[in-house]
Amino acid sequence: MKKLEKKLSAEPINFDSFFSEKAMLMKASEVRELLKLVETSDVISLAGGLPAPETFPVETIKKIAVEVLEEHADKALQYGTTKGFTPLRLALARWMEKRYDIPMSKVEIMTVAGSQQALDLIGRVFLNPGDPIVVEAPTYLAAIQAFKYYDPEFISIPLDDKGMRVDLLEEKLEELRKQGKRVKIVYTVSTFQNPAGVTMSVDRRKKLLELANEYDFLIVEDGPYSELRYSGEPTPPIKHFDDYGRVIYLGTFSKILAPGFRIGWVAAHPHLIRKMEIAKQSIDLCTNTFGQAIAWKYVENGYLDEHIPKIIEFYKPRRDAMLEALEEYMPEGVEWTKPEGGMFVWVTLPEGIDTKLMMERAVAKGVAYVPGEAFFVHRDKKNTMRLNFTYVPEETIREGVRRLAETIKEEMKRVKG
Ligand SMILES: *Cc1c(COP(=O)(O)O)cnc(C)c1O
Repeated sequence: MKKLEKKLSAEPINFDSFFSEKAMLMKASEVRELLKLVETSDVISLAGGLPAPETFPVETIKKIAVEVLEEHADKALQYGTTKGFTPLRLALARWMEKRYDIPMSKVEIMTVAGSQQALDLIGRVFLNPGDPIVVEAPTYLAAIQAFKYYDPEFISIPLDDKGMRVDLLEEKLEELRKQGKRVKIVYTVSTFQNPAGVTMSVDRRKKLLELANEYDFLIVEDGPYSELRYSGEPTPPIKHFDDYGRVIYLGTFSKILAPGFRIGWVAAHPHLIRKMEIAKQSIDLCTNTFGQAIAWKYVENGYLDEHIPKIIEFYKPRRDAMLEALEEYMPEGVEWTKPEGGMFVWVTLPEGIDTKLMMERAVAKGVAYVPGEAFFVHRDKKNTMRLNFTYVPEETIREGVRRLAETIKEEMKRVKG
């Protein structure tokens, strides 16, 4: 023992020398690091990405958990198949058929440990290093991180208030085709996008599918917010229009039950599911079976359909409060999206303002947001930010936006002067 201690103090171990090249490339999300600052103080955080815990259906979960343990413990506590707990897969198939009119005869469903796992599986089964993959600009941060591990060539296509600029995508596809390159995957958060809050119009959804057929690519449609609509007309998922099996649809219980379950699902052509299933085997054998059994009852017994309107009722006033406060407090030259659902508003400040640099001054004024830069794969937009409206109550949102507007006004003066 003495000898060992001596050795340790004499020659410190170079732990980094043990890591793989890929591990050495991994970096902690800088946004997370930034937000650590906020957690401890009395800063109003509009930076979060979490659902409000008040929306978790605790009593229902309690009741179902007891039922599952009393009636199905043998299966619910056992290893399950990699593709997922069959009763849940069937219940989800019926639910998607009813809700989105997607004929499930053409689709297979696999459950996953949250959509995040599906994003990683997609990287694994489709991406060779250097393969072009199209994402939106801005796009979901955790998707960038998941795909990045597979070292693709990111191509980003701007958004406007009707979602991805599919016209610009077409130009890009043509350009790539001339270079002999083929895009395999187009990733979109089609409805109430994270971070921008915008929804792809029906025309663009159809056009995107046409392009997928013409240029031979697959669409990954990430739909965590589809059910959280507070105003406007429902927009069917792209998967609804998909007659050929081009769309891989990702669903999740994170925003409609509770993210702690870590249960999501993939709805896609059986041939694609088969490969993803094999890829998943070596990662975790199967998704948490007990959680899947609870999720099954939640869908099957109609609790999900009952619960969705309650979440909407809880979030809608918060969305309204944020949009009203922005209208009231923001100076001329600041623009923002007007989401009909989801959890986020995207704010664009005048050119020349760097929201990452401004963060320190905002925190000093008692408000935090997520600087937009990290949502762009090429990190080329510094004057944007994401605001969350689901986590804090209306009055706090108003005060947060007021403080933010103060910060921005001062920053505009500073940049001009
Ligand atoms: C919240 C969210 C998810 C959900 O991820 P899980 O791993 O299922 O919790 C997926 N995609 C986007 C864009 C999200 O914002």
